[in-house]
Amino acid sequence: MGKRYYCDYCNKSFADNPVSRKTHLNGVVHAQNKRAHYDALRDEEEILRDESNKKPCRAFLSSGQCKFGDRCQYSHLTTEDKAHLAEVVNQKKRLAEARLHDASQSQEDNNDDSILQSLNKWEKRRAEKRACEESVEYGPVSKQTLSAFIPDYQFAPCLVSVPNLPSSLLPPTKEELINAEYAEWGW
Ligand SMILES: [Zn+2]
Ligand SMILES: [Zn+2]
Repeated sequence: MGKRYYCDYCNKSFADNPVSRKTHLNGVVHAQNKRAHYDALRDEEEILRDESNKKPCRAFLSSGQCKFGDRCQYSHLTTEDKAHLAEVVNQKKRLAEARLHDASQSQEDNNDDSILQSLNKWEKRRAEKRACEESVEYGPVSKQTLSAFIPDYQFAPCLVSVPNLPSSLLPPTKEELINAEYAEWGW
């Protein structure tokens, strides 16, 4: 099998030679896929603005078909499509505004010296944090956290006087425990 060319836009591969590559890259399907790819990344607001500036494509809107396809200079969006797009844009804006509002709100909170309010807020945040923690899956524990939980293992008093103990009877050091490989058991 010779070299294959993989087209990301079309999600397909074909024999890589100048002719088939050129045929593919100049093809209608490829152009459509490429355009669809970038359209998906384009901001809804920008699409809405562009489409609103175009005249409606009568052919497409009356029959659902247009020989120019995605390259048509007229808009293929129905009034409904545009309304939906406008709704998405509005939602995004409202979200952005709400975020902005939250940010300035917490700024005000910092200046607020009512202890009761702060307490209520603290309690609410704690509840939120706990709810959040409960839904979180824990990853590996950091060495720092680990070291806080490792006790100082002491030599068993009855062994102190015994010379040349086997290493299995020596207490582990903190460093050994922190740097040990911890594995999950028994799956
Ligand atoms: Zn392609
Ligand atoms: Zn059209």
